Amino acid sequence: MENIRNFCIIAHIDHGKSTLADRMLEYTKTIKITENQMLDNMDLERERGITIKSHAIQMEYEYDRKKYMLNLIDTPGHVDFSYEVSRSIAACEGALLVVDATQGVQAQTISNLYMAIEQDLEIIPVINKIDMPNAMPDEVEDEIVDLIGCDPEDIIRASAKTGEGVPEILEAVVKRIPAPKCDPAKPLQALIFDSIFNSFRGIIVLCKVENGSIKRGDKVKFVQTDMEYTADEVGVLKLDLEPRNELGCGEVGYVISGIKVATEVKVGDTITHVDAPCEKAISGFEEVKPMVFAGVYPIDPNDYENLRASLEKLQLNDASLTFQPESSQALGFGFRCGFLGLLHMEIVQERLDREFNMDVITTVPNVSYMVYDKQGGCKEVHNPSGLPESTLIDHIEEPYIRATIITGTNFIGPIMRLCLDKRGELLSQQYVSGNRVELHFMIPLGEIVIDFYDKLKSISKGYASFDYHIDSYRPSKLAKLDILLNSEPVDALSTLTHESNAVTMGRRMCEKLKELIPRQQFDIAIQAAIGAKIIARETVKQVRKDVLAKCYGGDVSRKRKLLEKQKKGKKRMKQIGNVQVPQKAFLAVLKLD
Ligand code: GDP
Ligand code: MG
Repeated sequence: MENIRNFCIIAHIDHGKSTLADRMLEYTKTIKITENQMLDNMDLERERGITIKSHAIQMEYEYDRKKYMLNLIDTPGHVDFSYEVSRSIAACEGALLVVDATQGVQAQTISNLYMAIEQDLEIIPVINKIDMPNAMPDEVEDEIVDLIGCDPEDIIRASAKTGEGVPEILEAVVKRIPAPKCDPAKPLQALIFDSIFNSFRGIIVLCKVENGSIKRGDKVKFVQTDMEYTADEVGVLKLDLEPRNELGCGEVGYVISGIKVATEVKVGDTITHVDAPCEKAISGFEEVKPMVFAGVYPIDPNDYENLRASLEKLQLNDASLTFQPESSQALGFGFRCGFLGLLHMEIVQERLDREFNMDVITTVPNVSYMVYDKQGGCKEVHNPSGLPESTLIDHIEEPYIRATIITGTNFIGPIMRLCLDKRGELLSQQYVSGNRVELHFMIPLGEIVIDFYDKLKSISKGYASFDYHIDSYRPSKLAKLDILLNSEPVDALSTLTHESNAVTMGRRMCEKLKELIPRQQFDIAIQAAIGAKIIARETVKQVRKDVLAKCYGGDVSRKRKLLEKQKKGKKRMKQIGNVQVPQKAFLAVLKLD
C-alpha cells in the first residue's frame, strides 16, 4: 500500500495530456510507443483530441531502489463530462496540472483543478511544451503561482515531445503524492470511477479500493443500484487486463461480473461485500441527468427500427445517453434523445453516422424545463410540444449555468455583449495575469445550446476558453412559439423561447419558411403564434399556371401521367394538413442568422 501512487492529469485539450502519458508509459517500459498514442483508443476521440471515456493504466517504477506501482487514471477533458472527471479525481491522491507553455491556463483546467483541490489532491504543476519557440514558461509560471500559491521551484518544466522533464515528473509522483489512505481491516468499499463496454465480457467496471479488499469469486453488491453480482474476475489494467486473485487496499483495477447493461453500472457507485457490507456508500455520488434534448428522426422512415437498434447499441457503452420513442406529425416516428450537453449530442450524432451508417434529422436541441401547473404540480418537459395548454401553466423554470470564460482583455467588450444578449448576468470579473481576464456569468443553458460556442469562438478569434456547471432552475418568462401552416400547428417547428425574443424569432421563422415552401395550388398562410395570438404572418402565393390547363381538351391518360409525375416530385415533402413542406425546411429554420 505504501508503494502505490494513484494520480491523474489535469490539462486543457491539446496541452499535451496524452503525449505526456505516452512518455511516462514509455519511460517506465509499460509500453513501447509506435506512432499511435495509447490512452485514447477510439478513432473519434483521437480526431477530436478529447478523451471521451476515461481509462486507467498501471506502471511499475523503481525509485531509490524501491518498487512503486503508479496508477494513471485518465480523465475526460470536456465540460459535458465534468461529473465523470470528478469521480476520476476522487479515485486519486494526486494530480499533474499540465499547462501548455504557449497558451497558459484555460477555463476548464481551472475548474478541474478546483475539483482536485477540494478533494485534497496533491498538485504537481507541470509546464509542458517548453521546446516550442513561442513558449513563455516564465509568464505561465507566474500564472500557476498565482493560481495555486505554490513555490516556483515546485513547478516542473517539461516537453512531452522531447521527453525533457519526464523523469522529474515520475520522481515527483513518488515523492510528493501520498500513498492511498486505506484500511484493509474495514469492510470493502470500492469506488466505481468508470466502465468499459466489451461485447464478449460485458461491462468491465473500473474501481479504486478505498477500504478492505476484493477477491475473485467474492459476492459483491453495488450500493446505489442495490444489485448483487459475483466478481468473476478481478485484476489490474496494464496494456491489457491482467487478472489477479485480489485487488488490495488502495489499488486501482477492474471487476468483471457479467453485467451486460451499461445503465446498471453507475459512475460514483460503491462496491461492497454482500456478507459484510460497508455502513455507508462513498460520498459524492450523483445521478447524471441529461440536460439537453433533441428529436432524432430517420431520414428514411423505414429505418426506424434500425435507428432504435443503433441507439440501444450506443447506450451499451454510453450510460448517459437516454432515448424514448416520440412521434412528430411532421417528421414521423423517431426518438427524443437526452444528452449531457451539446458536445455529447454531436458525438452521438457522429457515431450514429459512422458506426451505424444512419442518416438522421436532429431537431433543434432544447433543455429540460420544469413546468408548474396551477394546482401546484410540477413536471419535467423535454419537448416544446409536450407543454401543457398555456392556461393551465402557473410558471416555467429553466436551468441556468455558471459559466467561466477566460480570454484576453481586448475581447471583454464583445464577449460581454454576447453574454448579455444571451440573457446572461455578469457575476464577477478578475484579471488572471498580464492581459488575461476571467469572467463569470449566470446564463440560461437554453441560450447556450444553439450557437453560443461558435459565436464565442468567432468573436474571440479562438482565444476564449469556456467552462460551465449547472447551477439551478430559475423561473423564466418563456413562451411557446408555434408555427401554423394554413392554420394547422406544426409540432416539429415549435420552440420554447424567452418572451423578449419571441416576436423577432417568430417573424424570422415565417420569412425563412416562405423562402423554403414551394408554391402550391392554393395560397399558404404561414403564421407564428404564441397561444392564440398570431405574432407574424407570411403568405406563399398559389401557383398561377395550372399544369392541367395545358392539357385542356387533351386525352385522359396524358392528364393522369402528369398528375402522377407531380405526385412523385412531392415524395421528399411532408404533407402537413393540405400543405406540402420540404424536409429541408425543418433543418433550415434552425439556422436563422
Ligand atoms: P491532449 O489533448 O492534452 O491529450 O494533447 P495531446 O497530447 O494530444 O497533444 C496535443 C498536440 O500537442 C499534439 O500535436 C502533440 O504532438 C503536441 N504536443 C504535446 N506535447 C508537446 C510538447 O511538449 N512539445 C511540442 N512541441 N508539442 C507537444
Ligand atoms: Mg488526449
